[in-house]
Amino acid sequence: MWLSHYSRWLSRFQNLHFLSQQSTSQLLSFSFTTATTTTTTTTPSSPSPSPPPIQVALTESAGRGVFATRRISAGDLIHTAKPIVSHPSLSSINSVCYFCLRKITSNSLEFQAHNARFCSQECKENSKVFYDVERRADWSTFDDYCRSQGLKYPLLVKRLACMIISGAVSADSIHILQPASLSPEMILKMEEGFHLLRRALKKADAMDEELTFLNKQWYTSVMARIRINAFRIELAGGLYEDLLSAAAASIEAEVAVGNAVYMLPSFYNHDCDPNAHIIWIDNADARLKTLREVEAGEELRICYIDASMGHNARQTLLAEGFGFRCNCPRCLSGD
Ligand SMILES: [Zn+2]
Ligand SMILES: [Zn+2]
Repeated sequence: MWLSHYSRWLSRFQNLHFLSQQSTSQLLSFSFTTATTTTTTTTPSSPSPSPPPIQVALTESAGRGVFATRRISAGDLIHTAKPIVSHPSLSSINSVCYFCLRKITSNSLEFQAHNARFCSQECKENSKVFYDVERRADWSTFDDYCRSQGLKYPLLVKRLACMIISGAVSADSIHILQPASLSPEMILKMEEGFHLLRRALKKADAMDEELTFLNKQWYTSVMARIRINAFRIELAGGLYEDLLSAAAASIEAEVAVGNAVYMLPSFYNHDCDPNAHIIWIDNADARLKTLREVEAGEELRICYIDASMGHNARQTLLAEGFGFRCNCPRCLSGD
C-alpha cells in the first residue's frame, strides 16, 4: 500500500524506475495470474493473456499507485492476483485448505497429512515449497505463542521462512513492499516470535547456511512489511451479485479464514470512498474489481478499512494501522 510520506523509502528504490514501461510490465507479469475484464464467475480454463487495463505509476502525493489505462466499467474484474505468501488463521486451520484457504469439504479430508489439510492434490503439490521444510520441525511452541497472543503475522513469516529455506523464493522477496515504521517497543515484542521461529527451524536440522538470512533484522523487516500489506481474507463464495452486501456485512466478526500478502494489490492506495475493491470468492486468489465506472488515467483506489465508519474513527484507524492521515475527497469534505 503506497501511502504518502515515504520519500525516504522511495529513494531506496530508485532503481525500480516505476515509470518506465519495462519495469511496470515486469511488475505486472510478476503479479498477474489471469487478465480479463469479463464478469464471468467461472475460472477461465483457457488463459486469455490480454494485459490488464492498469499501470503502476507515481501519484502526485501518495507515492506509487495503480492507474486505469482505459475506461473500465463498474463491476468489472480488473485483474486477479495470487498470494506471495498466505496462511490460514489458527481458528480455521482445520476447516480450510492449508495452501489456498478454500473451505474444506468432507471429501477433501483424504488429503489430510501431518495435521495439514489440502483441498486438492494440486494444492498439496503446490504446498511443497514450504511444507517439505515445515513438516521437519515441531511448531507446537511457536503456534502456542501465536495462539495465546492472538498473533497472525508470525505465521506468515514462518511460512515465508520455510519457502526461503526450500529455495522457492529469495530472502528479500517482499522487501519491495512498503514497511511500517516500528517503534522500539514493537520491535521488542517481536523478539520472542523470532527466537521461537529460529529455534524450531534449528531443531528441524536446518543447516546453518540455510538459516543465515534468519536474523532479527530480517524478521522485523518482514514483519514491518506484513503489518501494513497483509490482507485479511474473507471468502465471499456464492454469486458476484451477493458480494457487495456480503463484504459490507462481514467486516466485524472473526470471519477471516486467513491472511495473505500480494504484490500488485499492495500498490493500490487507500480511499474512504473507493472506486475499486478486493474480494475473495472461494480461496486466497484475490480479485480486484471496480465499484463504479473508471476513466482512463484515473487512479484505482481501494479502502483499507471499514468504509462505513465515521470520519474520526477512520482517521484514527488509518493513522494507527497504516501510519498516514487520509486526505481523500470524502475526508476533506468532513464526511
Ligand atoms: Zn487448496
Ligand atoms: Zn479518507
